[in-house]
Amino acid sequence: MKEIVVVGASLAGIRSCQNLRRNGFEGTLTLIGEEKYLPYDRPPLSKSMLTTDQNPQELFLVSEAEVRDLEINLLLGERATGLNTVKQEVTVGEEKIHYEGLVIATGASARKLSKFTELDGIHTLRTLDDALAIRSGLTSGSSIVIVGAGFIGSEIASAARTRGCKVTIIEGGAAPLIRGLGEKTGWLVVRYTNDTALNCYSAHRWHLSTAVAPLKRSNLAMARKSPLRCSSSELALHPTLNGSATQASLSTTVFFATRH
Ligand SMILES: Cc1cc2nc3c(=O)[nH]c(=O)nc-3n(C[C@H](O)[C@H](O)[C@H](O)COP(=O)(O)OP(=O)(O)OC[C@H]3O[C@@H](n4cnc5c(N)ncnc54)[C@H](O)[C@@H]3O)c2cc1C
Repeated sequence: MKEIVVVGASLAGIRSCQNLRRNGFEGTLTLIGEEKYLPYDRPPLSKSMLTTDQNPQELFLVSEAEVRDLEINLLLGERATGLNTVKQEVTVGEEKIHYEGLVIATGASARKLSKFTELDGIHTLRTLDDALAIRSGLTSGSSIVIVGAGFIGSEIASAARTRGCKVTIIEGGAAPLIRGLGEKTGWLVVRYTNDTALNCYSAHRWHLSTAVAPLKRSNLAMARKSPLRCSSSELALHPTLNGSATQASLSTTVFFATRH
Protein backbone atom coordinates (compact mmCIF):
# COMPACT_ATOMS: atom_id res chain seq x y z
CA MET A 1 0.00 0.00 0.00
CA LYS A 2 1.37 3.41 -0.99
CA GLU A 3 -1.23 5.98 0.04
CA ILE A 4 -3.19 6.12 3.28
CA VAL A 5 -5.61 8.91 4.14
CA VAL A 6 -6.79 9.47 7.72
CA VAL A 7 -9.88 11.66 8.19
CA GLY A 8 -10.18 13.26 11.66
CA ALA A 9 -7.10 14.82 13.28
CA SER A 10 -7.77 14.06 16.92
CA LEU A 11 -6.64 11.26 19.27
CA ALA A 12 -7.60 8.31 17.05
CA GLY A 13 -6.37 10.01 13.87
CA ILE A 14 -2.91 10.98 15.12
CA ARG A 15 -2.39 7.65 16.93
CA SER A 16 -3.27 5.84 13.68
CA CYS A 17 -0.59 7.84 11.85
CA GLN A 18 2.01 7.29 14.57
CA ASN A 19 1.36 3.54 14.66
CA LEU A 20 1.36 3.21 10.88
CA ARG A 21 4.86 4.74 10.79
CA ARG A 22 5.96 2.72 13.83
CA ASN A 23 4.88 -0.47 12.05
CA GLY A 24 6.87 0.36 8.93
CA PHE A 25 4.42 2.11 6.60
CA GLU A 26 6.59 4.23 4.30
CA GLY A 27 4.03 5.53 1.79
CA THR A 28 2.18 8.84 1.59
CA LEU A 29 0.25 9.56 4.78
CA THR A 30 -2.36 12.33 4.75
CA LEU A 31 -4.19 13.47 7.89
CA ILE A 32 -7.25 15.68 7.36
CA GLY A 33 -8.68 17.67 10.29
CA GLU A 34 -11.58 20.06 10.33
CA GLU A 35 -10.24 22.00 13.30
CA LYS A 36 -7.37 24.46 12.90
CA TYR A 37 -5.32 23.05 15.80
CA LEU A 38 -2.74 20.28 15.97
CA PRO A 39 -4.37 17.11 17.39
CA TYR A 40 -5.13 17.74 21.06
CA ASP A 41 -6.37 15.96 24.16
CA ARG A 42 -10.05 16.61 24.93
CA PRO A 43 -10.46 15.47 28.60
CA PRO A 44 -8.80 18.65 29.98
CA LEU A 45 -11.34 20.80 28.08
CA SER A 46 -13.91 20.33 30.85
CA LYS A 47 -11.31 20.28 33.64
CA SER A 48 -8.01 22.21 33.77
CA MET A 49 -8.88 24.38 30.75
CA LEU A 50 -11.88 25.74 32.66
CA THR A 51 -10.50 25.80 36.18
CA THR A 52 -7.16 27.40 35.25
CA ASP A 53 -5.83 29.71 32.54
CA GLN A 54 -4.05 26.78 30.89
CA ASN A 55 -2.38 27.46 27.56
CA PRO A 56 -4.11 25.45 24.78
CA GLN A 57 -0.73 24.37 23.42
CA GLU A 58 -0.24 22.21 26.52
CA LEU A 59 -3.02 19.95 25.22
CA PHE A 60 -1.39 19.20 21.89
CA LEU A 61 -0.68 15.49 21.37
CA VAL A 62 2.18 16.15 18.93
CA SER A 63 4.45 19.03 18.02
CA GLU A 64 4.93 20.42 14.52
CA ALA A 65 8.44 18.90 14.57
CA GLU A 66 7.01 15.43 15.28
CA VAL A 67 4.53 15.83 12.42
CA ARG A 68 7.45 16.69 10.12
CA ASP A 69 9.48 13.71 11.40
CA LEU A 70 6.54 11.39 10.74
CA GLU A 71 6.24 12.85 7.23
CA ILE A 72 2.52 13.44 7.60
CA ASN A 73 0.84 15.57 4.98
CA LEU A 74 -1.29 17.47 7.52
CA LEU A 75 -4.34 19.36 6.27
CA LEU A 76 -5.79 21.36 9.16
CA GLY A 77 -8.89 23.55 9.03
CA GLU A 78 -10.14 21.37 6.16
CA ARG A 79 -13.33 19.31 6.20
CA ALA A 80 -13.61 16.10 4.17
CA THR A 81 -16.93 16.50 2.40
CA GLY A 82 -17.16 13.47 0.13
CA LEU A 83 -16.04 9.88 -0.30
CA ASN A 84 -15.96 7.89 -3.53
CA THR A 85 -15.16 4.30 -2.62
CA VAL A 86 -15.06 3.20 -6.27
CA LYS A 87 -12.47 5.75 -7.31
CA GLN A 88 -10.95 5.62 -3.80
CA GLU A 89 -11.03 9.37 -3.34
CA VAL A 90 -11.79 11.73 -0.47
CA THR A 91 -13.04 15.20 -1.37
CA VAL A 92 -11.55 18.17 0.47
CA GLY A 93 -12.66 21.49 -0.96
CA GLU A 94 -11.99 21.33 -4.70
CA GLU A 95 -9.37 18.63 -4.21
CA LYS A 96 -9.81 14.86 -4.63
CA ILE A 97 -7.28 12.95 -2.53
CA HIS A 98 -6.62 9.40 -3.69
CA TYR A 99 -6.15 6.60 -1.16
CA GLU A 100 -5.39 2.91 -1.10
CA GLY A 101 -6.11 2.70 2.61
CA LEU A 102 -8.60 4.93 4.45
CA VAL A 103 -9.04 5.49 8.19
CA ILE A 104 -12.22 7.29 9.27
CA ALA A 105 -11.57 8.76 12.72
CA THR A 106 -14.23 11.45 12.81
CA GLY A 107 -15.23 10.82 16.43
CA ALA A 108 -18.28 12.43 17.96
CA SER A 109 -19.91 15.84 17.96
CA ALA A 110 -22.12 17.64 20.49
CA ARG A 111 -25.86 17.46 19.98
CA LYS A 112 -27.40 20.89 20.04
CA LEU A 113 -30.71 22.00 21.44
CA SER A 114 -31.34 24.03 18.36
CA LYS A 115 -30.30 24.21 14.77
CA PHE A 116 -30.14 27.96 15.28
CA THR A 117 -26.68 28.38 16.69
CA GLU A 118 -26.11 32.06 16.22
CA LEU A 119 -27.32 33.20 19.65
CA ASP A 120 -24.64 34.69 21.84
CA GLY A 121 -24.18 33.01 25.20
CA ILE A 122 -25.14 29.42 24.29
CA HIS A 123 -22.39 26.84 24.01
CA THR A 124 -21.82 23.13 23.72
CA LEU A 125 -18.48 21.67 24.79
CA ARG A 126 -16.59 19.46 22.38
CA THR A 127 -13.71 21.49 20.96
CA LEU A 128 -10.87 23.68 22.16
CA ASP A 129 -12.65 26.75 20.76
CA ASP A 130 -15.79 25.77 22.73
CA ALA A 131 -13.73 25.52 25.93
CA LEU A 132 -12.08 28.91 25.33
CA ALA A 133 -15.48 30.52 24.73
CA ILE A 134 -16.95 28.96 27.88
CA ARG A 135 -13.89 29.90 29.94
CA SER A 136 -14.18 33.53 28.91
CA GLY A 137 -17.75 33.58 30.27
CA LEU A 138 -16.98 31.97 33.64
CA THR A 139 -16.55 35.20 35.53
CA SER A 140 -17.30 35.50 39.22
CA GLY A 141 -20.93 36.36 39.86
CA SER A 142 -22.19 35.17 36.45
CA SER A 143 -25.24 32.92 36.42
CA ILE A 144 -25.02 29.91 34.16
CA VAL A 145 -27.45 27.15 33.26
CA ILE A 146 -26.06 23.76 32.30
CA VAL A 147 -28.25 21.28 30.47
CA GLY A 148 -27.05 17.73 31.15
CA ALA A 149 -25.52 16.48 34.42
CA GLY A 150 -23.34 13.76 32.93
CA PHE A 151 -19.58 13.89 33.42
CA ILE A 152 -18.98 16.84 31.11
CA GLY A 153 -21.89 18.94 32.41
CA SER A 154 -20.92 18.17 36.01
CA GLU A 155 -17.30 19.07 35.39
CA ILE A 156 -18.34 22.39 33.88
CA ALA A 157 -20.53 22.98 36.96
CA SER A 158 -17.56 22.28 39.20
CA ALA A 159 -15.31 24.65 37.24
CA ALA A 160 -18.00 27.34 37.25
CA ARG A 161 -18.39 27.03 41.03
CA THR A 162 -14.62 27.23 41.43
CA ARG A 163 -14.69 30.50 39.48
CA GLY A 164 -17.51 31.91 41.62
CA CYS A 165 -20.46 31.51 39.22
CA LYS A 166 -24.03 30.76 40.22
CA VAL A 167 -24.91 27.41 38.66
CA THR A 168 -28.24 25.83 37.73
CA ILE A 169 -28.25 22.28 36.34
CA ILE A 170 -31.09 20.77 34.31
CA GLU A 171 -30.91 16.98 33.90
CA GLY A 172 -33.31 14.60 32.18
CA GLY A 173 -32.50 11.66 34.47
CA ALA A 174 -33.40 11.25 38.12
CA ALA A 175 -29.83 11.82 39.36
CA PRO A 176 -26.56 13.38 38.26
CA LEU A 177 -24.13 11.06 36.43
CA ILE A 178 -26.95 8.52 36.12
CA ARG A 179 -26.02 7.14 32.72
CA GLY A 180 -22.42 6.42 33.71
CA LEU A 181 -22.82 5.48 37.37
CA GLY A 182 -26.49 4.75 38.07
CA GLU A 183 -28.73 6.64 40.46
CA LYS A 184 -27.24 5.61 43.83
CA THR A 185 -23.60 6.00 42.88
CA GLY A 186 -24.31 9.24 41.01
CA TRP A 187 -25.66 10.82 44.19
CA LEU A 188 -22.86 9.28 46.29
CA VAL A 189 -20.23 10.96 44.12
CA VAL A 190 -22.02 14.29 44.27
CA ARG A 191 -22.43 14.12 48.07
CA TYR A 192 -18.85 12.98 48.60
CA THR A 193 -17.34 15.70 46.46
CA ASN A 194 -19.62 18.36 47.95
CA ASP A 195 -18.19 17.49 51.36
CA THR A 196 -14.58 17.79 50.26
CA ALA A 197 -12.35 20.52 48.97
CA LEU A 198 -13.03 19.18 45.47
CA ASN A 199 -16.44 20.85 45.49
CA CYS A 200 -17.12 18.82 42.39
CA TYR A 201 -20.39 18.23 40.58
CA SER A 202 -22.11 20.92 42.52
CA ALA A 203 -24.80 23.39 41.64
CA HIS A 204 -26.81 26.00 43.47
CA ARG A 205 -30.01 24.75 41.89
CA TRP A 206 -31.02 21.40 40.38
CA HIS A 207 -33.86 20.49 38.05
CA LEU A 208 -33.87 16.68 37.86
CA SER A 209 -36.09 14.47 35.67
CA THR A 210 -36.53 17.59 33.63
CA ALA A 211 -36.10 18.09 29.91
CA VAL A 212 -35.54 21.26 27.96
CA ALA A 213 -37.68 21.71 24.89
CA PRO A 214 -35.60 22.20 21.74
CA LEU A 215 -35.06 25.89 21.21
CA LYS A 216 -37.27 27.40 18.55
CA ARG A 217 -36.65 30.45 16.44
CA SER A 218 -39.27 32.36 18.49
CA ASN A 219 -37.41 31.62 21.79
CA LEU A 220 -34.22 32.77 20.21
CA ALA A 221 -35.73 35.95 18.85
CA MET A 222 -36.89 36.77 22.36
CA ALA A 223 -33.57 35.83 23.91
CA ARG A 224 -31.62 37.73 21.28
CA LYS A 225 -33.39 40.90 22.33
CA SER A 226 -32.13 40.29 25.81
CA PRO A 227 -29.49 37.54 25.71
CA LEU A 228 -28.34 38.31 29.23
CA ARG A 229 -31.71 37.27 30.62
CA CYS A 230 -31.78 33.76 29.15
CA SER A 231 -32.10 32.05 32.53
CA SER A 232 -33.55 28.65 33.32
CA SER A 233 -36.91 30.21 34.13
CA GLU A 234 -37.15 31.37 30.52
CA LEU A 235 -36.35 27.97 29.03
CA ALA A 236 -39.26 25.65 28.32
CA LEU A 237 -38.87 22.89 30.93
CA HIS A 238 -41.05 19.83 31.27
CA PRO A 239 -40.85 16.64 33.35
CA THR A 240 -39.48 13.52 31.67
CA LEU A 241 -41.43 10.30 31.73
CA ASN A 242 -40.07 7.96 34.43
CA GLY A 243 -36.92 10.03 34.50
CA SER A 244 -35.95 9.07 30.96
CA ALA A 245 -34.42 12.02 29.21
CA THR A 246 -35.26 13.30 25.78
CA GLN A 247 -32.49 13.38 23.27
CA ALA A 248 -32.21 17.14 23.63
CA SER A 249 -31.75 17.04 27.36
CA LEU A 250 -28.89 14.55 27.10
CA SER A 251 -26.66 17.07 25.39
CA THR A 252 -24.45 19.28 27.46
CA THR A 253 -25.37 22.86 26.68
CA VAL A 254 -24.23 25.87 28.64
CA PHE A 255 -26.22 29.08 28.82
CA PHE A 256 -24.68 32.18 30.22
CA ALA A 257 -27.54 33.98 31.84
CA THR A 258 -25.63 36.98 33.06
CA ARG A 259 -22.59 38.44 31.39
CA HIS A 260 -20.23 40.86 33.12
C1 LIG B 1 -15.09 17.94 27.22
C2 LIG B 1 -14.70 16.49 27.11
C3 LIG B 1 -14.18 15.82 28.21
C4 LIG B 1 -13.83 14.48 28.12
N1 LIG B 1 -13.31 13.86 29.22
C5 LIG B 1 -12.93 12.58 29.13
C6 LIG B 1 -12.38 11.91 30.27
O1 LIG B 1 -12.23 12.50 31.34
N2 LIG B 1 -12.02 10.60 30.13
C7 LIG B 1 -12.18 9.94 28.92
O2 LIG B 1 -11.84 8.76 28.85
N3 LIG B 1 -12.70 10.55 27.84
C8 LIG B 1 -13.08 11.84 27.91
N4 LIG B 1 -13.62 12.45 26.81
C9 LIG B 1 -13.81 11.69 25.57
C10 LIG B 1 -12.54 11.66 24.71
O3 LIG B 1 -12.03 12.94 24.55
C11 LIG B 1 -12.90 11.03 23.38
O4 LIG B 1 -13.12 9.67 23.64
C12 LIG B 1 -11.80 11.19 22.34
O5 LIG B 1 -11.64 12.55 22.02
C13 LIG B 1 -12.16 10.40 21.09
O6 LIG B 1 -11.17 10.64 20.13
P1 LIG B 1 -11.45 10.47 18.59
O7 LIG B 1 -10.17 10.80 17.89
O8 LIG B 1 -12.06 9.13 18.35
O9 LIG B 1 -12.61 11.51 18.21
P2 LIG B 1 -12.73 13.07 18.43
O10 LIG B 1 -11.85 13.54 19.54
O11 LIG B 1 -14.18 13.36 18.47
O12 LIG B 1 -12.12 13.68 17.10
C14 LIG B 1 -12.69 13.60 15.84
C15 LIG B 1 -12.05 14.68 14.97
O13 LIG B 1 -12.51 14.50 13.64
C16 LIG B 1 -12.75 15.77 13.09
N5 LIG B 1 -13.68 15.61 11.99
C17 LIG B 1 -14.99 15.19 12.06
N6 LIG B 1 -15.54 15.14 10.84
C18 LIG B 1 -14.55 15.54 9.97
C19 LIG B 1 -14.50 15.70 8.55
N7 LIG B 1 -15.57 15.42 7.78
N8 LIG B 1 -13.36 16.14 7.98
C20 LIG B 1 -12.28 16.41 8.76
N9 LIG B 1 -12.27 16.27 10.11
C21 LIG B 1 -13.39 15.84 10.70
C22 LIG B 1 -13.31 16.58 14.24
O14 LIG B 1 -13.19 17.97 13.99
C23 LIG B 1 -12.44 16.09 15.39
O15 LIG B 1 -11.30 16.90 15.55
C24 LIG B 1 -13.99 13.79 26.88
C25 LIG B 1 -14.51 14.47 25.76
C26 LIG B 1 -14.86 15.80 25.86
C27 LIG B 1 -15.43 16.52 24.66
